[in-house]
Amino acid sequence: MKSKETNSIRTQSERSQHREHSVPIYMTSSFVFESAEHGRELFAEEVPGNIYTRFSNPNTTEFVEKMCKLENAEEGFAFASGMAAVFSGMAALLKSGDHVLASRSLFGSTHQILTKIFPKWGIEHTYVDADKPETWEKEIKPNTKMIFVETPSNPSLEIIDLEWLGKLKQKHNLILNVDNCFSTPIIQRPADYGADLVTHSATKFIDGQGRVIGGIVVGKKELIAEIRFFARQTGPALSPFNAWILSKSLETLQLRIEKHSANALQLAETLKENSEILFVKYPFLPTHPSYELAKKQMKYGGGIVTIRVKGGYERAKRFLDSLNICSLSANLGDTRTIVTHPASTTHSKLTEEERIAVGIFPDLVRISVGLESVEDIINDIKQAIEKSK
Ligand SMILES: *Cc1c(COP(=O)(O)O)cnc(C)c1O
Repeated sequence: MKSKETNSIRTQSERSQHREHSVPIYMTSSFVFESAEHGRELFAEEVPGNIYTRFSNPNTTEFVEKMCKLENAEEGFAFASGMAAVFSGMAALLKSGDHVLASRSLFGSTHQILTKIFPKWGIEHTYVDADKPETWEKEIKPNTKMIFVETPSNPSLEIIDLEWLGKLKQKHNLILNVDNCFSTPIIQRPADYGADLVTHSATKFIDGQGRVIGGIVVGKKELIAEIRFFARQTGPALSPFNAWILSKSLETLQLRIEKHSANALQLAETLKENSEILFVKYPFLPTHPSYELAKKQMKYGGGIVTIRVKGGYERAKRFLDSLNICSLSANLGDTRTIVTHPASTTHSKLTEEERIAVGIFPDLVRISVGLESVEDIINDIKQAIEKSK
């Protein structure tokens, strides 16, 4: 097996007669059959091949193949958004009466699916806390089918032991589904610990340049077959154009993750010394509650740093409004540094109580550290801290 770097650069769909070096974009809704019989064979899945872009397309297939190699997974399906991937990966495999064990600290919309949408269809869930692993096994019920976690979580940066989780799922014969959005396969590969499914919002670090929305689920062949059936019928497929962007983006993923992580670590170390900041959280800072675990399972610390500013929500707002270079946006994983206030934006649909339970305090600010010069990022954040006093 080739290295991750080589696979992410050299995996490419077959060249056309034009011998192009960079893969073309296949902007086509359907594909022609060589004969009536060929059409029948394709639909009967007796021969491989593209039929219709809702099912598959060369650009999407290339992106999926690369991601499978990077995540060490058998198969995958690409989606129009990270949420389409999260939703389809669960909805395709769960039925009325099933139960999901989920880590409490989850992306806002994933939380809404579990608490507002699935209950309508009789799918229940229990939240468990990352810092209380001893409680997880007790919450597994006879109807528990799936464990769904984020590690590190958005935005709380909670870390769950993947090796332990792999053993827990094995013991109880559950489907382990890991949202690996904050890490990407460059930092950790959940499948190496036994995860059955690895889910991504490709919008974030995978695109990495803030251009497209996309998502993907990769994992065990038989589970992906069910997800593929569900997605073919319900239609959340990724567009060929977005797949082309995402596949090209993977060519620079290794370099970008290294630089995001180096910049984020330097920023976190600098902010740790600032008396106007209550707390700095970053997986590779020794003050992170799960520092040892982060060092064990993550190759780099990732691009996200969170801080709690002194002076509550009002100070946090003044801080955001004082930034000159960093962008105010709800996205993350961009080349450009983005500063977000989760309580009033990405996690505003949660109740105050639900937010506090996962560490989303009114003074919490999430910084997605970009690829600009780290000195410029640090100086902009420092001056905004001073100005917002
Ligand atoms: C952004 C995000 C999602 C949702 O992805 P979209 O591409 O915005 O639909 C899911 N999980 C995590 C951890 C995210 O950060």
